[in-house]
Amino acid sequence: MFRTHTCGELRLSDTGRHVILSGWVQRIRDKGSLIWIDLRDRYGITQLMLEEGKTTPALIEQVRQLGREFVIRVEGLVVERISKNPQLATGDIEIEPHSIELLNKSKLPPFTIEDMTDGGEELRMKYRYLDLRRNPLKENLLLRHKLALETRTYLDALGFIEIETPYLIKSTPEGARDFVVPSRMNPGEFYALPQSPQTFKQLLMVSGFDRYFQIVRCFRDEDLRADRQPEFTQIDCEMAFVEQDEILNTFEGMVRFLFKKVKGIDIEPFIHMDYAAAMRLYGTDKPDLRFGMSFVELTDLAQGKGFGVFDGAELVVGINASGCASFSRKQIDALTDFVKRPQIGAKGLFYVRYNEDGSLKSSADKFFSQHDLQQWVERCDAKPGDLLLILSGATHTTLKQLNELRLEMGNLLGLRDPNHFKPLWVTDFPLLEWDEETQRFYAMHHPFTSPNQKDIPMLDTNPAEVRANAYDMVINGVEIGGGSIRIHNRQLQKKMFELLGFTDEEAQQQFGFLMNAFEYGAPPHGGIALGFDRLTALLAGFDSIRDFIAFPKNNSGRDVMIDSPSAIAPQQLAELQLEIRKISLP
Ligand code: ASP
Repeated sequence: MFRTHTCGELRLSDTGRHVILSGWVQRIRDKGSLIWIDLRDRYGITQLMLEEGKTTPALIEQVRQLGREFVIRVEGLVVERISKNPQLATGDIEIEPHSIELLNKSKLPPFTIEDMTDGGEELRMKYRYLDLRRNPLKENLLLRHKLALETRTYLDALGFIEIETPYLIKSTPEGARDFVVPSRMNPGEFYALPQSPQTFKQLLMVSGFDRYFQIVRCFRDEDLRADRQPEFTQIDCEMAFVEQDEILNTFEGMVRFLFKKVKGIDIEPFIHMDYAAAMRLYGTDKPDLRFGMSFVELTDLAQGKGFGVFDGAELVVGINASGCASFSRKQIDALTDFVKRPQIGAKGLFYVRYNEDGSLKSSADKFFSQHDLQQWVERCDAKPGDLLLILSGATHTTLKQLNELRLEMGNLLGLRDPNHFKPLWVTDFPLLEWDEETQRFYAMHHPFTSPNQKDIPMLDTNPAEVRANAYDMVINGVEIGGGSIRIHNRQLQKKMFELLGFTDEEAQQQFGFLMNAFEYGAPPHGGIALGFDRLTALLAGFDSIRDFIAFPKNNSGRDVMIDSPSAIAPQQLAELQLEIRKISLP
């Protein structure tokens, strides 16, 4: 028997018991006549104590041969500790071992297995199995497990059933790049790994499973950013005979349930905001509503006063940084440098300081009178002591730049507390997005998204203005998920493909299976997918998803632990009838 208890289990009430524990040696403190060992497993740490005179010399000698991360099995007596450790669940007791068995040795780990480790990112990725022994990562995986479990509980109670869909599917050009897998039995042909189970879940609706879900791996071959992974997990859902409201209520309910179950908190009801308002007020389709500073348009007030920068701009727009009139010249310069960084690209930053004495000072006083500036502060609802920060230029870019500045101000002023949650639904996205480079429309969500009923006539006349019956769930400025009511009619789906520049043959060849299915009694349906990794990270108060995935890839899409991707053997290539040749892309 390896253990009667775990290392997190024993309490004062267990004193006097003979127990067996197994685990890893976290730490040995050898004070000569006294030796303490911290024995660790997944459940916690239990202290072992050996004392010269009490413990046999042979056992003491044996313990002196142990090193960090050795795996041992200990038999001993539970005794009350003299100096208790209230930080530790087992801190009232310790074990007096009478025998220790070495189960396995360990090389010296390349970094310390402590909450605050000395290991750098790359090293920890290479020895991920050791990194996962550390509490913070272990806790993350436990949280992830709990979240998955509660997700299933919630959805099951509402009659959703989990159905697996295939991982080897067909490559389609929409969306991100596919990962492809060559088929040995069909030489020259490839499977693709799913970017999401989108078409399959829609087919399941045609099959009559009116409430489907799956906690499912998805694959996207995209250039990676800090919080993206080439494979990631979604809570993927679809419902038949529903309208948007019911979907939003169901999944708002789910997220509220998860926060309650996992964090014990009641999050606020979700605000609903349409895309146009989100862009106008926050310059982004995923606003962080933990703080105010919504945008105020000042174009009409700012123009016609001879200030060339504003007169030539399509949009003059500002935020009111409340209480920031005391910002020093240096602080404002730093903000100016921030917006001028190449990633943001503003030409400059204009400010109006509303001094405590009621006087107004702007960065171009010679063009604007006190009366002019008074109108600005009134529109921005500013009070003495506030500071207006203003950007100008082309509408779309200026809104985006001001979004960055607003978030930066939120950071500077400590208004983005990771333990404060502000959820919302963003609705009424545009159906299509025009791409200048390829001179064609792309689906903003995906090609199966239904246009807003009212806008259908505009598909022929003004497609760019058509709104989609699509929605995103946003929490704290992070897009947690998105979905839509789908097209369930062959004609409309065909029209959508036309708008996206598909010929009839292309549409038929790539998505014929779906359009054909629509001809066999497809019910009205819609759904959503939530980023499971991201939701877990958010619940834990973190931005990056990497440490919420057991074995993630690094920023170049590599798994440095197993060293993947890697070349394959010539024999494997031959079987696949593939040959490696370097081709330079235009
Ligand atoms: N399949 C979509 C996605 O992965 C979500 C959905 O529309 O349900 O983004």
